[in-house]
Amino acid sequence: MECKTVSIEKRFMGRFPHGSDLLQEINKFLTQENILSGEIRIIGAVSKAVFGYYDSQSKNYIYISKNEHMEILNCVGNISVKDGKPFPHVHIALADKNGKAYGGHLMEGTIIFAAEFVITDYGDNKLERVYDEATGLYLWNI
Ligand code: ZN
Repeated sequence: MECKTVSIEKRFMGRFPHGSDLLQEINKFLTQENILSGEIRIIGAVSKAVFGYYDSQSKNYIYISKNEHMEILNCVGNISVKDGKPFPHVHIALADKNGKAYGGHLMEGTIIFAAEFVITDYGDNKLERVYDEATGLYLWNI
């Protein structure tokens, strides 16, 4: 196991605007506040969603789209640095009107109905993402 000790610098609570793209709003906030390390937690609802499943064979994301109103059961992510910029890695779990759950890697195209966030900034404890040959993913360079 490889890890790093981090301390909490700051915590933000807020909500993202109705009708906007969830991943774009997260990116905008991280850039605006210059958060290079930390974590994200969001609950609320979406009017549609796009999320991904990473196919380890082809090393590509398979996109899944749901064009309906759903609850955000849980949306969690971490924040690190990729190509010198804040990079959020976020997963989302959603439920439809029957309580059936779906989820995956959050992609652009997920439209907010309501989204309350808690974002924790770890300040200067940044981790850099670098390409990992074994997985085909950009993983933390610890
Ligand atoms: Zn992911």
